[in-house]
Amino acid sequence: MTGICSIIEVETRKVLKPFPVSNQTNSFRVLFIMAKAIIKSFRFRINPSKAQSAKLENTLNLCRELYNAALAERRDAWKLNRINITRFDQDKQLPEIKQTNPEYKEIHSQVLQDVLKRLDKAFQSFFSRVKQGVKAGFPRFKGKNWFDSFCYAQSGFNVSGNRLTLSKIGKVKIKLSRQIQGKVKTCQIKRELNKWFVIFTVETAIEPLPKTGESVGLDMGVSAFVTLSDGTQIDNFKYYESTQKKLRVAQRSISRKKKGSNRRRKAVLKLRKIHQKIKNQRNDFQHKVSTYLVKTYDLIAIEKLSILGLSRGILAKQMNDIAIGNFFQKLEYKAANADKELIKVQPHFTSQDCSSCGNRVKKDLSVRVHYCLVCNLRIDRDFNAAINILNLAVGQTVKGSKWNNSSCLPLESTSNLL
Ligand SMILES: [Zn+2]
Repeated sequence: MTGICSIIEVETRKVLKPFPVSNQTNSFRVLFIMAKAIIKSFRFRINPSKAQSAKLENTLNLCRELYNAALAERRDAWKLNRINITRFDQDKQLPEIKQTNPEYKEIHSQVLQDVLKRLDKAFQSFFSRVKQGVKAGFPRFKGKNWFDSFCYAQSGFNVSGNRLTLSKIGKVKIKLSRQIQGKVKTCQIKRELNKWFVIFTVETAIEPLPKTGESVGLDMGVSAFVTLSDGTQIDNFKYYESTQKKLRVAQRSISRKKKGSNRRRKAVLKLRKIHQKIKNQRNDFQHKVSTYLVKTYDLIAIEKLSILGLSRGILAKQMNDIAIGNFFQKLEYKAANADKELIKVQPHFTSQDCSSCGNRVKKDLSVRVHYCLVCNLRIDRDFNAAINILNLAVGQTVKGSKWNNSSCLPLESTSNLL
């Protein structure tokens, strides 16, 4: 069994971080620079034949069943005997599962191992939430529409020309819209509505961008997407309001239709299409903004997102938090790739404290202007927060802040920047 364990060891991916540079000779320094690599992903549409689609669907179904069975086992062992079954314990059972359920022989073994790894991740994040004292939901069973991808972790796939060879599936047509750069690590197959995609994660050397000497703090909002510490605001994406309206209409239309009816099924599909469209538009927008920021600034300061915030509050707020989380992820990997710095600061009192004199001005969410009676500073609330975030990141005390109390600074819109 040690054999299986050692394979798993190799499989554990680490995002390479620069080694600490201290008392190192020049040759070591060269190594240090060469080791600066990041993990990137490349996503392409694939066009499986009817028979291949059926195999892909079948793989998804079996993986989902394995996920749910493994989840049940871990849950019951814990509930009944307080025994913690690990991923390695479950990995060991895979050969036996294949013996008793021959249909699992039709799935590449790494794909199955990855299912157990995913479940383990869900448990780990559950445990860490419990540890932090946050209300945490136990990992959930996956319904039919809630399991839409599987992953070859190391091998079992190959791209050649316009064909993607997947072990146990076959040669699938792929549209390579750009060249894959770097060393391919994993290959994930994903179903979105009725389309199929492949996502390769790749380890590649970073591509530093020219230094600009500029720093910025970001305050994420609800009405404006983000406010920068120089007072600029970037609005939400252009179609945001109109798509939100379509979403509400579609949701209402479902609630009016009878459960189990054909019309309801159609309405649900329509809703999912709108969700998908919003997701694509948002992604596209976030890519543009994050690219712009990483190009323009050497140091970007953001607030640490708290898990606490995510588990509380109304749904709209939660959705917004998730969107911000996605945006920060993009910023993070783009900054790493461009050799720029991203600093996360503690979010306490960033919207309350005066960015000019440090006086704490208590205000609830409805108060949009920061007005300090001590130093007379009157600026937009989010603008004030963005300055605080930048100051916290560069370790500057408010007294050294370059912002004075002279006037109310106007906000300019930068939608034309994008
Ligand atoms: Zn003040």
